[in-house]
Amino acid sequence: MRAALLIALVTSGLLFGQPDRFDILIAGGKVVDGSGNPWYDADVGIRGDTIAAVGKLSGATAAERIDARGLVVAPGFIDIHSHGRRGIFSVPTAENYLREGVTTIIEGPDGSSPLPLKPFFESLAKTPISINFAAFVGQGTIRQQVIGLANRKATPAEIARMKDLAAQAMRDGAFGLSTGLFYVPGNFTPTEEVIEIAKVVGRMGGMHISHMREEAGHVLDSVRETIRIGEEGGLPTQITHHKIIGQPNWGRSVDTLKLVEEARARGVDVTIDQYPYTASSTGIAALFPQWSLEGGQKSTLERLAAPEERARIKAVVVENLKFDRGAGDPRNVQIVNCAFDRSLAGKNLAEITRARGAEPNIENAAETAIALVSKGGCSAIFHAIDEDDVVRIMRSPYTMIASDGEIPVFGQAAPHPRSYGTFARVLGVYVREKHVLTLEDAVRRMSGYPAQRLKIWDRGLVRPGMKADVIVFDANTVADRAQYDQPHQYSVGVRDVIVNGKPVLRHDQVTSERPGHVLYGPAHQ
Ligand SMILES: [Zn+2]
Repeated sequence: MRAALLIALVTSGLLFGQPDRFDILIAGGKVVDGSGNPWYDADVGIRGDTIAAVGKLSGATAAERIDARGLVVAPGFIDIHSHGRRGIFSVPTAENYLREGVTTIIEGPDGSSPLPLKPFFESLAKTPISINFAAFVGQGTIRQQVIGLANRKATPAEIARMKDLAAQAMRDGAFGLSTGLFYVPGNFTPTEEVIEIAKVVGRMGGMHISHMREEAGHVLDSVRETIRIGEEGGLPTQITHHKIIGQPNWGRSVDTLKLVEEARARGVDVTIDQYPYTASSTGIAALFPQWSLEGGQKSTLERLAAPEERARIKAVVVENLKFDRGAGDPRNVQIVNCAFDRSLAGKNLAEITRARGAEPNIENAAETAIALVSKGGCSAIFHAIDEDDVVRIMRSPYTMIASDGEIPVFGQAAPHPRSYGTFARVLGVYVREKHVLTLEDAVRRMSGYPAQRLKIWDRGLVRPGMKADVIVFDANTVADRAQYDQPHQYSVGVRDVIVNGKPVLRHDQVTSERPGHVLYGPAHQ
């Protein structure tokens, strides 16, 4: 009996003070732990998929030793607003995300998600991927499934059906409800209807995240609505990719942030996320009046064929080019991709208008936009945000960083650079160059804060017992490289990325490991 105990103690190394043994030891780095606290010197020992120890581990042995001297060791970043659900299957490494330090992305934003979620998660779980993947359920998708794209109120029976679908999505593993009240069919949804569904999601522990109804002239009303959904729905609510669109509205972040402060002061759990760019990206139909999009492409074409309706549509497109997403110049609207003509990628509305043989003024650019939507539409980038608003929103203690990006196929189309650069850009431009945030605060807004928001309690911090999503980067060189005219450029400076205890990026090289998991929300069964 005693001999057995002795042998056990000896083999476990306890008796003779034998060194700890880890699978990976990250040695000599400055730990920025995701809480916002100042960096400190420590080694990080990883065993299996878990951070086993943090501290002075110089005597330990490890199968793999990562020398982090002069570098920052931080939790992997969590992107609470991502459009990676198509890209993850064609680019399972999600290399654009890896190279900016992201180890978890949350899909299903802007009111749009796979539905039902279960088969989506099942096919994802069968796909070897490098990063962790989670999802919201989209209110627009739920509404479309129940009542299509019609612009009308839901009946009580339809609302009951929508609540059931939301509850099922929560049981399937959603982290909450996303809305896209700017888009069809979310824009046809009265706030009261959203609140009814939000109540179900809130009772099951989920949150609400909103692409707001309007981010230009009516942005204050939109913030009030987002707050109201949280307040009356009884759940945490988030203004996603918060920005102020259109020159006449610049500066209104002073007031939107005041609304957030007031709401929090009376007990509403409202937060913000943001990407660090002065351009947005969405379908070019965003220039159209919302009523003209009801019923889908076929109905839109019918309206464009009726001269009176066409004139009303064009008047709004002109207005939007002047004061909203166009910010007064057709050059501010740049094509990401048109399925019907790939050669348009990267060109702006002025260039395309000139190529059509017309003077590139706003009237003619509106005609170009109508022609593009008629042919099936394009995705586009809109330069219509002021840097002062970006910085003001970033400084709010309630703002976390999220990309609103996707997983591009390298070299294809001309996507918004946010997909490649968001997190590295905050660290390079807004921490190192502009001193808008401290390094620790920036890392908090990319890791510990979104983890807490999502109630992912075992990630987002470098602490013993947490899942080993850990990155090593050089705070002196980390930078985004993707530009609007040359978007396919990986960020630099993130040297090592570990997901669930496995290195997926090592010495700047993508490895063959695919340790990413589907992460399930608080009501998963
Ligand atoms: Zn959005």
